[in-house]
Amino acid sequence: MPNLNWLYSRSAIVFVTLRINTVSGESRKESNDSLEYLLGGRSLTSHLVSQEVPADCDPLGRNNKLFFTNGALAGTMVSSSNRLSIGGKSPLTGGIKESNAGGMVGQRMAQQGLRCIVLEDAPPPGSPWKIVVIGENKVELVDGEFLAGKGVYEKSSLLVEKFGPKTGCVTIGPAGENLLFASGLACTDPHDVCSRYAGRGGLGAVFASKRIIAMVILNDHNVEPEFADAEAFKAGTRNIVKLLKENPVSSKFTKYGTAAMVDICQALNVLPTRNFTQGTMEDAERINAQTMYDIIKERGGEGRTQHACQSPCAIRCSNVYPDKEGDLLCSPIEYETMALMGSNLCLKNMDTIAELNKIANDAGVDTLEVGAAMGVAMEAGLAEFGDDEACINLIKEVYNLTPIGRILGSGCKITARVLGVQHAPHILGQGLPAYEPRGTKGMAMTYLSNPMGADHTFGFTLRDEDVPTSKEGKVELSKKFQVIGSRMDAMGTCNFVRYAVRHDMTPLLALIKARYDVDVSVEEFDDVVKKTLRIEHQFNTDAGITLADHRFTESFYRDAQPETGEKIDITDEEVAQAMEW
Ligand code: SF4
Repeated sequence: MPNLNWLYSRSAIVFVTLRINTVSGESRKESNDSLEYLLGGRSLTSHLVSQEVPADCDPLGRNNKLFFTNGALAGTMVSSSNRLSIGGKSPLTGGIKESNAGGMVGQRMAQQGLRCIVLEDAPPPGSPWKIVVIGENKVELVDGEFLAGKGVYEKSSLLVEKFGPKTGCVTIGPAGENLLFASGLACTDPHDVCSRYAGRGGLGAVFASKRIIAMVILNDHNVEPEFADAEAFKAGTRNIVKLLKENPVSSKFTKYGTAAMVDICQALNVLPTRNFTQGTMEDAERINAQTMYDIIKERGGEGRTQHACQSPCAIRCSNVYPDKEGDLLCSPIEYETMALMGSNLCLKNMDTIAELNKIANDAGVDTLEVGAAMGVAMEAGLAEFGDDEACINLIKEVYNLTPIGRILGSGCKITARVLGVQHAPHILGQGLPAYEPRGTKGMAMTYLSNPMGADHTFGFTLRDEDVPTSKEGKVELSKKFQVIGSRMDAMGTCNFVRYAVRHDMTPLLALIKARYDVDVSVEEFDDVVKKTLRIEHQFNTDAGITLADHRFTESFYRDAQPETGEKIDITDEEVAQAMEW
């Protein structure tokens, strides 16, 4: 076990957890010193969910809790290290959930000296909305009724008006207020707009079930980070920037952002198209990275490429997409949304995708989940594939909470059930991300074996599959990348940093050493990652999730993908192996 003596000898408490009871408004701080608290991120959220949340509880009931954590290097100048992890039991999957976001909240928590914030208990339904306000000398629940029913963008403005600029805010949209399972948590970006989403798993509904409509971390305090070896830390910080700039993948994200994946996925036959029935879309170049880049540059105005969602970030994968007049239309637009709300609906107009993204953000829903649900709805005949106007009308139904909007906002699986669509792209009830699984058996294995439901960030095999359509060796490959991806989540670092340290974690572990004087070996760190995966799977088992839930719908096993002739041929036994930690 790493030596934590240095921590005990410091006068300042390093890892502080703030617990807030959402019924009484009472709060208390406690200090902790285990490795999970040192690492923060998903290591800590999943540790706490498994310790404190009954696996069989109602996700929207008083026994569920929401945990907000930052990571081991939060509050420092290390690139991309201020990620916010949010954990709890998911209403969408019925299992454990960690969803993370960029933005400013992780940093503001660090400035208040906090590693973790816990929202506990839940008032009766219909109780007045409250805002949690956290500052240097106060923790209080204040009236939040003035935010009720408003979109996320208006809420952002009202929160700035009331609490001032440069706070760290988390809020929900109308979808969250109405407990829809696709609702996410919107976090403040560097421009005081709640546009950075912890979107997956319906945690916005959990937040709302506690009658919390926003959480605001004031910018009134600045606990300076302490360093065991300040010079070594500075050198290590510079080293991370160098590694990110030299790495061919992360440096490409700097120019094009994640949109670079459109061409890659089209070439590999895994660009989800027409409700995941195809892996390529004709004219996909109309929504690729170069097209988006050219539009942003031509329109100018508020448009930006190489935009950072948090400070500091040497990659700056984000963007600001302008309308024809150069005014902000949507920020950011990510590959996952371009696929789920673009090719998956057979849309070929970047402005339409930006508009869909903007309305989804304002409604407070996960663009992946609702994009997958819209694909299902279009297969059911609610709109024609490729019909831009019909798609915008569908997402407006979500914003306006019409009956069909509530169904779409409940996610892909529920939409498919209600509309009688059998080809429903989800695992554990969570919509598939933007890689058509029959064309990439590595990603299929990752989706199938993920305790969070279908997700891509923690086991991203696509770039390393020699033969993507073959399942040979994919148990091992998925497991390898489950560890590589989970390392970043495990310590609250942006997942795109993984490209620079995938072969060698020591640059990040050296920073932990320089900050805390704690030696964590690669093996010890990976043990925490694997233990986290184990406890996540155990939580799900205790919640009643079985191996049979870790399957695609039958259509993926029965119907061949037209481009490759491939079906899903992965067995339950292979999935079980990929879940074995
Ligand atoms: S790489 Fe992108 S997502 Fe990650 S911290 Fe930087 S801007 Fe944010």
